[in-house]
Order: sequence, then C-alpha cells, then structure tokens
Amino acid sequence: MHKVCDIELGADILAANRRIAADNAALLEKHGIRSFDFLGAIGSGKTLLIEKLADILRSKGVRCAAIAGDVAGDDDYQRFRKHGLPVVNINTGKECHLDAHMVDHALEKLDLGSIDVLFIENVGNLVCPADFPLGSKTRVTIVSVTEGDDMVRKHPVLMGSSDILVINKIGLAQIMEVDPETLRKDAGRINPHMPVVMTDARLGTGLDRLLAKMGL
Ligand code: MG
Repeated sequence: MHKVCDIELGADILAANRRIAADNAALLEKHGIRSFDFLGAIGSGKTLLIEKLADILRSKGVRCAAIAGDVAGDDDYQRFRKHGLPVVNINTGKECHLDAHMVDHALEKLDLGSIDVLFIENVGNLVCPADFPLGSKTRVTIVSVTEGDDMVRKHPVLMGSSDILVINKIGLAQIMEVDPETLRKDAGRINPHMPVVMTDARLGTGLDRLLAKMGL
C-alpha cells in the first residue's frame, strides 16, 4: 500500500506542476515574451551562453531578462546583474530542479511589460528537471565536450523532451579527445527531430546559428 501512495503523490505533484506551467505559459504569451528554459550540467556553459546570446539580442534592440536557478547562492544572479540583465534569483535548497511554482513567483518580480525574451537557467542537472516543465516555450539542453562523449545517450528522458540540443565548448574537443559527432549521432537516435547546434560560447562560435534555431 505504501508504494501506491508514493506513486499517487508523485503523479499529483507532476500534474500540479503541469497546471502551473500552463498558467506561466499563458502569462508569458499574454505579454508577448519568448521564453527559453536552459538545462545542462554544472559547468556546461549555460550562464555564459545566455550572457552571449543576450549580448547579440540586445545589440538588435531585443529586451532580455533572466531567472537564475541554483541550489544555493547567487553566483549566476550576480553575473546576470553585472551583465545588465533584469534577473530574479531562485534557490531550490534541497530540490535538484526548478519547478513551475518557483518560476511563477519569479515572474511576479519581473516587469513583464518590458521583456521580449526570457532566459530561465535551471539547476545544473540533467536528470531531475526532465519531468518539470516550467511554462517556457522552448527547452534548450546543453552538453559540453568537456563532459565526455556519452552525455547525450546517458540522458534519454531529457533528450526526448528537449527542443534544441547545444553541444558547447567545441573549441576544446580535440584537447578533450571527444568527437562532437558522437554526441550529435546519439541525439539523432533518441530525438530525430531535435535540432543540434555546435557552439563555443567563449569563442562566439555558433551563436547566430543557435539564435536562428531558437527563432530569434
Ligand atoms: Mg550557471
């Protein structure tokens, strides 16, 4: 019996999250905001990618903002702030992912009337966030070559629910002895319709291609 209760409780939590995510999506759409949930392991380059993409977008007059999700601290929040982005920090404590309810409260703190593009940086993790949509329009998952060539096939659930896969730090591929094509081929097997973009945020490689895939 105990097992049944656990399963039902889990299903309730996921259903409640999906309802709040739908509300978030409706709110963002009402304000004409394009939203992107960035997922990836710690050190995959999520924060730098968002900073670089925001630089390009802002140079075209696109107004950007961010939600920084982390288990603890405000490192990414401070980076985005210094970068001139309106930003809200979310600390998840013991939770290893953002959920729609946390994002709902973060949206209350942003001036939604003055945002065109919202980046939501999730907690550095490729497992827990998979089941928790946040209400963003597009889920962008990032793996970097420094994590090895098996990161895609090790995370089939997340890859199956991602809209775009970014293979980052390709400038380091040779040094790491990782073939980015292995990651690309694994992605093609798991989610054949998911666009895959190779980038190196630090070098500025592939950022325009990524923005094009994001429809920006
Ligand atoms: Mg980060």
